[in-house]
Amino acid sequence: MDIRYFDNAATTKVKSEVLEEMLPYLKEEYGNASSLYSIGRKAKRAIEKARRQVAELINCNPEEIYFTSCGTESDNTAIKGIAKAYRKKGKHIITSKIEHPAILHTCQSLEKQGYRVTYLSVDENGKINLDELRRVISMDTILISIMTANNEIGTIQPIEEISKITKMYNIIFHTDAVQACGNIPIDVQKMGIDSLSLSGHKINAPKGIGALYIKKGIEFEKFIDGGHQENDKRAGTENVAEIVALGKACEIAKNNLENHMKYLQELRDYFIKQIEENVQDVKLNGDREKRLPGNTNFSFKGIKGETLLLKLDEIGICASTGSACSSGVEAPSHVLTAIGLSSELANSSLRVTFGEENTKEDASYLIKNLIEIVENLRKNK
Ligand code: PLP
Repeated sequence: MDIRYFDNAATTKVKSEVLEEMLPYLKEEYGNASSLYSIGRKAKRAIEKARRQVAELINCNPEEIYFTSCGTESDNTAIKGIAKAYRKKGKHIITSKIEHPAILHTCQSLEKQGYRVTYLSVDENGKINLDELRRVISMDTILISIMTANNEIGTIQPIEEISKITKMYNIIFHTDAVQACGNIPIDVQKMGIDSLSLSGHKINAPKGIGALYIKKGIEFEKFIDGGHQENDKRAGTENVAEIVALGKACEIAKNNLENHMKYLQELRDYFIKQIEENVQDVKLNGDREKRLPGNTNFSFKGIKGETLLLKLDEIGICASTGSACSSGVEAPSHVLTAIGLSSELANSSLRVTFGEENTKEDASYLIKNLIEIVENLRKNK
């Protein structure tokens, strides 16, 4: 059975150019980047090239990039590291209710250590309210962390407006751009971002590599102690092959961004139009305009997202639901609940996220089958 993969927000396929670029560092170029002989120096040079490639994607200086093991580690390092470095200035952090667990659970962990965290609500499209943000800022606010784009509903936040507010109050601004980098233009200087997380496996590099941008001059305590790698900010022998892969993936993402966005937007809009025209009682979740190019998220009234997912899986289609099923209890997605959906509607959601591997033919196959599955499930209720 052919697999048709529509879960590109969960992870993406490694591009063959990316694999080609990293393979020598798993074979003959196995030197430790800290070693002084030739293959060590070669590894070091490869890391520094990758650092420039990542920096170019988001328009920062290469020295402001730190390689990590994933987006989650980048988020942990930024939030905990900045919070600890500035604890004498204050212990208040502001974030939103719809962040990824990499941010939410990190903030909860800091709350246990005496920090105060405000979780901003969002409107029905998933956008934060800038007036509420201004209102909750206090004398001891040290950090504001708002994701660039949401992983479930694709909503893009008004990052430049948020950063203007943070600048006005001299507060550090972190953004989790794991879903955004490589999918929409990101310019940390123009957008006024102080700290940003990105992850390799969302942009056609392998799993297990991430990067953190932290603007020069901003202090943060390191998250992993040990050797002096990454300018003494992230210990551990560098994962050279994966760093090289991330660098290549960023270079490709930068060069192809316009075409990539256009291609994904066309697939996304075709899918949305067909579903809205052909299926009754559906609701598109997330902002219609300010939305990631490849993201769709629909609630199908009266049908469990999980049932849809399993039916699609039977014919080789991979998608995702907004609900996480833990120990038999269906917990509705915190994101869908935050935009005002009832538990029932939240549990009836299906996320379809397109990637460059998908063709219009694939999308048509998905649409045809999804329409049939929904009709049959509703008929047989
Ligand atoms: N932040 C967001 C918005 C994400 O979507 C993800 C992954 O799904 C992460 C952070 C975590 O990234 P990683 O899987 O690289 O740890």
